[in-house]
Amino acid sequence: MEFLAQPDRMQALATQLRTNITTTSSAAALPEIDLGDEPASEGGLLERTHLARDRDPKAKRRKLAAVLKTGGTITCEACGFDFGRTYGKRGHEYIECHHRVPLHVSGPVTTRVADLALLCSNCHRMIHRGKPWLTVEELTHLVRQHAGA
Ligand SMILES: [Zn+2]
Ligand SMILES: [Zn+2]
Repeated sequence: MEFLAQPDRMQALATQLRTNITTTSSAAALPEIDLGDEPASEGGLLERTHLARDRDPKAKRRKLAAVLKTGGTITCEACGFDFGRTYGKRGHEYIECHHRVPLHVSGPVTTRVADLALLCSNCHRMIHRGKPWLTVEELTHLVRQHAGA
């Protein structure tokens, strides 16, 4: 009902959902992140769309290649966690990707490598836990603030 009074927002959401459908190849690409009791509202749908985009395998591969090419390591940008160091071969080059600019702010865009942040699973969840989402810089600050506390 809320949508009917806001045709512009409805239009924007429809466009975003369409983008999601065309860029998400299968149900398997949907995020595993628990959305909790988020109702099926505009916010919930946009969150789902964002998380699906986080899992775009092509964008992720490009990001990982770019990091390795510049001599970087596949570690969490917020806390430095290295899956390979903790889990050995099983964790080698495992990491999650996060879109720095939420879809509901950026609108449908082509993802550039700089738009993606590499995060461990814990930090990625903490960014998305509660609204508003934190920026990668805000989360990094939180981690530093509590390190050794
Ligand atoms: Zn982390
Ligand atoms: Zn994310």
